[in-house]
Amino acid sequence: MKDLNTYKLLTPGPLTTTPTVKETMLIDRCTWDSDYNAITQEIRHELLRLAHVDNGQYTAVLMQGSGTFGVESVLTSIPAKDDTVLVLVNGAYSKRMCSILKHAGIKYETLEYAWDEIPDINSVDDYLNDHPYISIVSMVHSETTSGLLNDIESIGKIVKKYGKIFVVDAMSSFGAVDIDMGKTGIDFLISSANKCIQGVPGFSFIIGRLEVLLASKGNARSLSLDLYDQYDTMEHHGGKWRFTSPTHVVAAFRQALRELETEGGQPARLARYKKCNKLLREGMEKLGFKAYIKDELQGPIITTYLYPENFKVDFSAMHEFLKQNGYVIYPGKLTDIDTFRLGNIGEIYEEDIEKILSLFKAYKEQDDA
Ligand SMILES: *Cc1c(COP(=O)(O)O)cnc(C)c1O
Repeated sequence: MKDLNTYKLLTPGPLTTTPTVKETMLIDRCTWDSDYNAITQEIRHELLRLAHVDNGQYTAVLMQGSGTFGVESVLTSIPAKDDTVLVLVNGAYSKRMCSILKHAGIKYETLEYAWDEIPDINSVDDYLNDHPYISIVSMVHSETTSGLLNDIESIGKIVKKYGKIFVVDAMSSFGAVDIDMGKTGIDFLISSANKCIQGVPGFSFIIGRLEVLLASKGNARSLSLDLYDQYDTMEHHGGKWRFTSPTHVVAAFRQALRELETEGGQPARLARYKKCNKLLREGMEKLGFKAYIKDELQGPIITTYLYPENFKVDFSAMHEFLKQNGYVIYPGKLTDIDTFRLGNIGEIYEEDIEKILSLFKAYKEQDDA
């Protein structure tokens, strides 16, 4: 236990969790036990509440694996044989959606945008008007690639105008950014245990509109990622998972949900993330680090920085220097330019941001010398 929390993670998940979230994992639980299944049910119920939707119209399903498993579960379980999916692409995670569809042999088309811009609403409107055979529209909310926050409300309106199914990867926003699934017209929302709810990695979750989910029975291209089947077992067997579930992770997630409430719920968490992100952006700019995403499109979760012009950055040296001083940063994910990323989700507070800024300043001065 000596090495516990020797450094904090400025990464977009896994992230730094509280000692109390970690402590819940010291107990071994049985997947057959009703106490354990009750934890799953409590989580499902709480997730619906966070998405502002009711049991009866929507359902929450937990799925083993990382976030991608959840996205893959939806995209390979919901489309019927002849359905075509339209993917709005402006980052690596929307590109991954295309890759999932390609692997499964599901028909898809894309609308591509610059990675530092949000999808143009008129282009989506025109495309859906001209291509009536599209049945599902899929996009990412918070593009963790860049830190940009997409406008799912405006796109949702268009998608609903044409009566299409709307799938949103809200992996790195749900729990911190307010999402009213009903109002936004989202039919399937995907997120995971180790992002803004601040649990540990090991499962993803899907909040889905029941009517569409029930109609998808038999469509799944995979056994283990069959969303309908997973729902059917969980719903009708009191919170039981089909296959072995990550018991420690599930217990930790329930604790994380309770701690989200203690903090003041989603609004308080967003306020903390926003404050930290603003402090970070302002401080980094003063030091000569330019953010890749402009202020109006920047989300509260992670910021991408271009390598500064006034001094040379060696990512691995900088990473090592910061790690020795208690913080781990993240490499960039853009293909054409050199960048690095700083996440501010997890147990990160203003004092951490001040500390990080002073470390960057020290690193820069060391380089200047
Ligand atoms: C983290 C994340 C995912 C899932 O990534 P995994 O490595 O599979 O957990 C998907 N989409 C977005 C936007 C993410 O931030």
